[in-house]
Amino acid sequence: MNHLRLAARRAYSTAKPAVVPRITPGLVGAIGNTPLIRLNHISEEVGSDILCKAEWMNPGGSVKDRAALYLVQDAEERGLLQPGGTVVEGTAGNTGIGLAHVCRAKGYKCVIYMPNTQSQEKIDLLRMLGAEVYPVPAVAYENPENYNHQASRHAAKLENAVHTQQFDNIANRRAHIETTGPEIYAQTNGEVDGFVCATGTGGTLAGTARYLKDMKGDNVKIFLADPPGSVLHSYITSGKKLFERSGSSVTEGIGQGRVTDNLAPDVDLIDGALTIPDEDSIKMMYRLLDEEGIYVGVSSALNVVAAVEMAKQLGKGKKIATVLCDGAYRYQSRLFSRQWLESKKLDTAIPEHLQKYIIL
Ligand code: PMP
Repeated sequence: MNHLRLAARRAYSTAKPAVVPRITPGLVGAIGNTPLIRLNHISEEVGSDILCKAEWMNPGGSVKDRAALYLVQDAEERGLLQPGGTVVEGTAGNTGIGLAHVCRAKGYKCVIYMPNTQSQEKIDLLRMLGAEVYPVPAVAYENPENYNHQASRHAAKLENAVHTQQFDNIANRRAHIETTGPEIYAQTNGEVDGFVCATGTGGTLAGTARYLKDMKGDNVKIFLADPPGSVLHSYITSGKKLFERSGSSVTEGIGQGRVTDNLAPDVDLIDGALTIPDEDSIKMMYRLLDEEGIYVGVSSALNVVAAVEMAKQLGKGKKIATVLCDGAYRYQSRLFSRQWLESKKLDTAIPEHLQKYIIL
């Protein structure tokens, strides 16, 4: 044996055994248990640890894989879905992508209704995963043509089919009570001081908040973050009155015009709310690339802006957790296109030294 190989063997024999996850029972076993990443530059700047769940590392590439798995398991447990059955859902895309993966892995068909304002990448991916996709006009929930109501009617017409109803089915929130919350608690040794994120269904915020508050009571603060046009910020800060949606945002999958059944049981756990302008979210998305090497979508960037703001409000030396909901891959034709950014008047929000990332 030559001396180099001998030296390598000695080094290996003193190394600690690697801690790696066990063999997973199929794809669904690979959902969750994502890393909690400290944003090194941003944390130094604010004087608190900004800790982010790397949800793009889920098999379907987003935080919604967790909810998708729980929604399907819930339908199975309630006897609503028999082998070979069909899962129907209304989604901005990520829940659909999660469901499409879980359905393929478990042998179900998958039908997705989504607002036609969503990125082409998400529609293409859903179809590649074998889902039947119906992009429909983006109208308010009150309108019977809203994508959720269309999904409901579609499921009702089929045998052995279920509308999983991510917005109001609390199996969604349970996914985060049983996985996201406990993971953040364990990864911080219980020392998390704050959690903040934006809401679509509200499942991530409500479920994680429930677990962390059950563990830490008032020693952990919970903030909600809204994009422009969403009404939950004003609901929480102005005495629980719902306002008309007004304004719009370039974020996808977040912002809400009502208190969903997933959010309702835990709304009182929310200690504060923030509205984050699109300009700040887009700028943060480019900063995350440049300073942290992290390639995530604009809802993730919004969460980081909110976490920084929360850190400022709670004072230095805290640990603030949030989620990086998905990667930028599924939005790149928009978020890295100069023409698109100009059409949304967001090109000027990106500082000179970050303009080099606008490559499309
Ligand atoms: N970010 C993105 C990109 C999403 O697609 C979603 C879900 N639509 C969320 C955040 C919000 O997650 P939740 O539904 O758990 O509130």
